[in-house]
Amino acid sequence: MKSWNCIENCGACCKFDLNERTDLEDKLNSEDIDLIVKMTSEDGWCKNMDRANKKCLIYENRPHFCRVTEFSIQFKEYLKFGDKFLIDCCKQHISSNYGKKSKEMKNFKLAITSK
Ligand code: SF4
Ligand code: SF4
Repeated sequence: MKSWNCIENCGACCKFDLNERTDLEDKLNSEDIDLIVKMTSEDGWCKNMDRANKKCLIYENRPHFCRVTEFSIQFKEYLKFGDKFLIDCCKQHISSNYGKKSKEMKNFKLAITSK
């Protein structure tokens, strides 16, 4: 069984397009939406991300919806499939932002198989 693990220097989930995230509609309140709009650059990447190093600049104080293990319990798919759901979400983000053969994807696959 593979265990989910967040890897360093990734940040693939730090790009938002709320129009594509209808799954979040019932999980975010209006304050969350306002915050996301404020945090998001024109190209979709979070302004709090150090793009050169792919690191969150406010990691300790990041919003609740950026805290994967806490936020995920709101998804029925997580409650049903556990880490598999998280792994699939990360793969989707990494693949769409960096590519299926990216170093981020390789690192992620290593991280989830090494547990
Ligand atoms: S996409 Fe996954 S591995 Fe990458 S930063 Fe987000 S949670 Fe971590
Ligand atoms: S606040 Fe940090 S963790 Fe959240 S999206 Fe922005 S860079 Fe990513």
